[in-house]
Amino acid sequence: MAQQENQVTPIDDEGWVVDTEDCEARELAYREAGTSRPITVVGNPVLHRECKDVTEFGEELAQLINDMFASQKTAEGVGLAANQIGVDAKVFVYDCPDDDGVRHTGVVVNPKLVELPAGSRVLDDSNEGCLSVPTAYASLARPDYAEVTGQDAQGNPIKVRGTGYFARCLQHETDHLYGYLYIDRLSKRDRKDALRQMAENTPRYPVVAND
Ligand SMILES: [Zn+2]
Repeated sequence: MAQQENQVTPIDDEGWVVDTEDCEARELAYREAGTSRPITVVGNPVLHRECKDVTEFGEELAQLINDMFASQKTAEGVGLAANQIGVDAKVFVYDCPDDDGVRHTGVVVNPKLVELPAGSRVLDDSNEGCLSVPTAYASLARPDYAEVTGQDAQGNPIKVRGTGYFARCLQHETDHLYGYLYIDRLSKRDRKDALRQMAENTPRYPVVAND
């Protein structure tokens, strides 16, 4: 069987990832080469500690990314971090619309959220959910613009930026890889309510049962 070529990340003149072109074809190529895996849920230790930095940019990483796209599709997610399929590695994938309805599809390895000046922040208090807190939603204020630096699947440096719902996704997924769920950012009461919603409903995709 022919070896699948790694997808190359297009970069614009300013170094930003071009993640809005050929989204459908790119997402399909990843997930068709991958295997869907069950999703870890709140309480699983892998979600509550910082993941390891990725240092090897080879076939194993490429396969992980394929599996993450496959799993994201099965669970109907717009973003997925590696620890959400039980893998201790700083990688996330996304397939997410922004507030202009533009679809963004890509992968970030070893992401770091760029600290932006507090004065430039506009907070957006839309609803947020997480595949690892199945069926629950809560309003959470986050900046409506975000920038992330990191690497692509080949180890090249990349920058990703987004607005609106996609900005929320970039922040949410980076948080995962440092051991934080969005419910960790809620008030005690809202967190409790989210966990109650999760307890009362059944996820629509396979999850890893906690011990
Ligand atoms: Zn999540």
